Amino acid sequence: MQIHIATLSTVGSVLEFNEIVPINRYPNLDHGGENPSPVKLEGSVIKTESGCLVSGNIAMSLTLTCTRCLTPFEYRLETNFSEEFVNILATDDSAEKDGYLVDELPTYVGDRLDLTELITESIMLAMPMKVICKKDCKGICSECGQLLNEKICQCDQEKPDPRLAVLADLLKNE
Ligand SMILES: [Zn+2]
Ligand SMILES: [Zn+2]
Repeated sequence: MQIHIATLSTVGSVLEFNEIVPINRYPNLDHGGENPSPVKLEGSVIKTESGCLVSGNIAMSLTLTCTRCLTPFEYRLETNFSEEFVNILATDDSAEKDGYLVDELPTYVGDRLDLTELITESIMLAMPMKVICKKDCKGICSECGQLLNEKICQCDQEKPDPRLAVLADLLKNE
């Protein structure tokens, strides 16, 4: 997604944006899910001395598969972003010599900011490390395959303490 910033002429001017962007505009987004929704973006661009400060919120949803119970579920992703884009032409010599600004921050030339990479990275960072449908998902019984969130099966899930098992055997033989 590109933002036209031609109207941001003076330092401190603000441009707000509110857009719903189709997911295929983020070709490098490796979300690992199914049926991703469009990406809802809301934020602002503020003109700074050396460029533009872009910040805002991202909201989208997609279907993920729980790694514990293997059931697909709807995941709502919400995150925010904030990044300064540096106008290459505006960077002075000291900033360039330092190498910091040019290397570490996204840059732009002219009057368009391309947020594609920033949004792609922000979404990937917001994806859950551990994909589970709910905190207390009980998973699947390793014996009978029953989905334990739906009902508890009759299998003995707790492996008995072997020492107690020996004791139980002794008692049985008496
Ligand atoms: Zn689950
Ligand atoms: Zn079972």
